Amino acid sequence: MSEERRIHVLDKVTASKIAAGEVIDRTSSVVRELLDNAIDAGATEISVYLTGGGIKEIRVIDNGSGMSKADLDICFLPHSTSKLNTADDLFNIMTMGFRGEALASIAASAKLEIITSQTGEIGYGIEIDGGQVKDLGAVKANKGTVVSVKELFCYLPARRKFLKSPAAETSSCRTVFYEKALAFPNITFKLFLEGKLSTFLPAASLKKRIADAYPSLAPEKLYHQVEAKCEGYSVTILFPGVGVVRRDRRDIKIYVNSRPIQEFALVQAVCYGLSAYFPGGTYPAAFLFIQIDPSLVDFNIHPAKREVKINNLPMIHRTVVEALKQHMGELQKPAGSTDALYPKDEDISTGIQKPAEAVPPYQPGTPSYQPKPVEKTLFGPEKTSITFSPAPTHQSRSFSNLLKDKPEVVNFQPSPEYKGDFRYLGQIFDSFLLCEREDSLYIIDQHASQERFYFDLFLSSKPEVHQLLIPYNIECESQVAELIEKQLPQYAEIGIIIKKDETGQLYIDAMPSSFFELKNDVLNLLVTQTGDFENIKTELYARAACKKAFKAGDAIDYDKAIDLIKKVFAMPMPRCPHGRPLYYQLTKDKLYQLLERTV
Ligand code: ADP
Ligand code: MG
Repeated sequence: MSEERRIHVLDKVTASKIAAGEVIDRTSSVVRELLDNAIDAGATEISVYLTGGGIKEIRVIDNGSGMSKADLDICFLPHSTSKLNTADDLFNIMTMGFRGEALASIAASAKLEIITSQTGEIGYGIEIDGGQVKDLGAVKANKGTVVSVKELFCYLPARRKFLKSPAAETSSCRTVFYEKALAFPNITFKLFLEGKLSTFLPAASLKKRIADAYPSLAPEKLYHQVEAKCEGYSVTILFPGVGVVRRDRRDIKIYVNSRPIQEFALVQAVCYGLSAYFPGGTYPAAFLFIQIDPSLVDFNIHPAKREVKINNLPMIHRTVVEALKQHMGELQKPAGSTDALYPKDEDISTGIQKPAEAVPPYQPGTPSYQPKPVEKTLFGPEKTSITFSPAPTHQSRSFSNLLKDKPEVVNFQPSPEYKGDFRYLGQIFDSFLLCEREDSLYIIDQHASQERFYFDLFLSSKPEVHQLLIPYNIECESQVAELIEKQLPQYAEIGIIIKKDETGQLYIDAMPSSFFELKNDVLNLLVTQTGDFENIKTELYARAACKKAFKAGDAIDYDKAIDLIKKVFAMPMPRCPHGRPLYYQLTKDKLYQLLERTV
């Protein structure tokens, strides 16, 4: 054994570089930290200037409190902060920053210049370049602070290599800029690229800020807003109508105490809450803002504060799911009034719109249902033109049937699922059923409608399980197999019986006949989507329903058409499992308008 000592304490410069790497790993982390500081300083206007993707320079200008000369002299030292005094304060954090390491990390990674003024008359400047501090003395400056970060990682060449192209760095800075701007709608944000104004987000309401920041999400700038409160926290969820459908969960944004965070449990809660409207691999866009008593949340577990430890996460999860389900359930409630379905005038002016997806079933004895302009939100731009010309030479089989018998009014005995009446006019293009109901013409997509019907049927009935003659082996890695094994009871719930042979190989022993044609889909989903049972379930049901439904192009006989139309009108949410509408509703008023008729 040698007495030689191999452990030594790192020198300050090396240690600060290591610490810097934790906080600052690319240009967007600098933008994030400087925005946080400006927000903490109480700024009402913040401008970000990026040159060369932020690699050349990131400059953030705020009109916040500014710093005294004494504070300026130490703000860039490690662990210097005005936001925390004792360790106890860690459990009561109201500010974005608190560790006092951002400016120190930036000073260790780049050339830093700060000019600050508390009065708007006299200000002070400082420059830190490679550990050398240069006092710029008194200068004339506007109230607030200008922080300029030049040549990021010029002193950390290893890290500089990991910077991407200026375009990619700009894009990542832009993402951070939008993320922050969303959480602070009362602050005006400006983004300048190469000196030119690129994004201007004026101070606004939260709804308007979301619409300004994500125009693609809110073409009509109208949102659902759901609020829920519980001891220690409050939740606000904003989302566009269910017509905005995403292929992944990327547009579900979660904020805890105004910080964007990645918390899958909460993303999942949003998906569950809206699952009835986003089946089969489709996802909503949504913004979830949670305000939690600072003592119930710990942001001090991730260098960039991207992850948090939240007490009572399961309770928040439940609250979110239930609040969303209840909100959507209430909107669907047709009984008595249509109030819940259509925006009241004041809702429109504040930008909240209740969805207009459902057609309330006709209730005998109640005032007749007045069609309101629902086409706009359901089927896109108002200027939809449709052509409908049943030329006798293009009669489909069912259309000739119709002409022979003349359209007749079909009156139904009130049944538990549907009460009301409509007139079936026939099929066009071998794909759509035409029907008159109240003051509207409906053009119903027969395939999508049947698909939806079967999908609902699968969801609501107990699956019949059939033993497979030849069991299907589930080929996957052992980690995946372990996950699948944990979910055997859930798979059994939808009729997929999975067993394990003596060698440890998992196989499907039995499943519902509706999945027989989907053998590859079943195996594929099991292996690739394990862990997301709800998604597997909806995806399988959606695919099975699609296989079972009439295809576009199939002739459909009269009784079946009537039956299908009845079912469609009884559906509270007439959309197919993939989110497409089941019909186009052309109101009489709209038709008159299209043909420029006044009477
Ligand atoms: P933290 O934000 O965690 O306190 P920073 O290193 O980001 O640590 O900042 C150190 C201190 O410098 C802050 O606590 C604050 O007092 C001061 N400071 C930084 N940026 C600004 C700014 N834009 N306006 C006013 N004060 C600032
Ligand atoms: Mg800070």
